[in-house]
Amino acid sequence: MGEFELIRHYFAAASCAQAGEGVALGIGDDCALLQVPAGEQLAISTDTLVAGVHFPEPADPFLLAQRTLGVSVSDLAAMGAVPIGFTLALTLPAAQPDWLQDFARGLDQMAQRCAIRLIGGDTTRGPLSLTVTVFGRVPAGLALTRTGAQVGDLLCVGGELGDAAGALPLVLGQQQAEAAVSEPLLSRYWSPVPQLELGVVLRGKATAALDISDGLLADCGHIAAASGVALLIEQSQIPLSAALVAFAGEAAALQCALSGGDDYRLAFTLPAQYLTDLQQAGWPVRVIGRVAAGEGVTLLDAQGLSVPLLRSGYQHFGSASD
Ligand code: ADP
Ligand code: MG
Repeated sequence: MGEFELIRHYFAAASCAQAGEGVALGIGDDCALLQVPAGEQLAISTDTLVAGVHFPEPADPFLLAQRTLGVSVSDLAAMGAVPIGFTLALTLPAAQPDWLQDFARGLDQMAQRCAIRLIGGDTTRGPLSLTVTVFGRVPAGLALTRTGAQVGDLLCVGGELGDAAGALPLVLGQQQAEAAVSEPLLSRYWSPVPQLELGVVLRGKATAALDISDGLLADCGHIAAASGVALLIEQSQIPLSAALVAFAGEAAALQCALSGGDDYRLAFTLPAQYLTDLQQAGWPVRVIGRVAAGEGVTLLDAQGLSVPLLRSGYQHFGSASD
């Protein structure tokens, strides 16, 4: 199968590649054309996933597609943006019909879930690698950024942390667990669901936000640095899932939540006045700490004493600890 037939059959024909709101022209020309409503800004983000670095090889193509797109769209959620479209740059060792079929199905399912359209891409031969660029829209001036956290704000997260990192031994086939434990953990790794609705609801309320990809401590460090404040995290308030605690034990579960990464949940700073309404409306807003004057991230134990931090997230270049 040639490059053009492959693109046409598996991607241009996918239901997520059909016309949709905000897409004036999709796959097939030299560029796609997007329509951004007046008064809105275009939010753009790119992520690359490399086999053996970001996911184990061989990986289930259906799940790999879900993860690739979910991880990218999560950046739109973190800005409070609404998805419009995405491009897919796919580097493949070979064109295997079964693999492509399953990959396209996984992509379609996640695209549907996020209401985002496949608008173009590139297809090349080489070691398996996937690059997704997402495009979204957000009313001008309302994007959630990492700057703006104010002393006195609450520090919140959009739900339980650590599941994806805790799932790694399951992902790598090093350990097994009963379905009630392994299924929720594996699904948090392979099919992260971007918190798009939460991002939109937080517009004009959260003072700073991001999605947790490198681990809570490392990512909170980004908010602290960008906003010029200190973030205090109460260890006892970090939400952990029952499945993770059952699988890894309390101490390892906490470590996964603090430094594991791959959560793709939102972390944000919020003036306290908004908390009750958001929680009563059913939004997953969990308070884990607060913003103070100073710098950096401090973890506090039940007595309010600072807990020494060992490592703060994964980095591709340089050492894992800093
Ligand atoms: P060009 O040579 O102009 O860069 P290509 O031959 O690479 O165009 O691609 C033809 C069309 O197919 C373009 O619209 C491109 O965006 C799209 N395309 C290529 N690869 C993919 C892919 N993996 N997924 C979706 N669209 C793709
Ligand atoms: Mg091209």
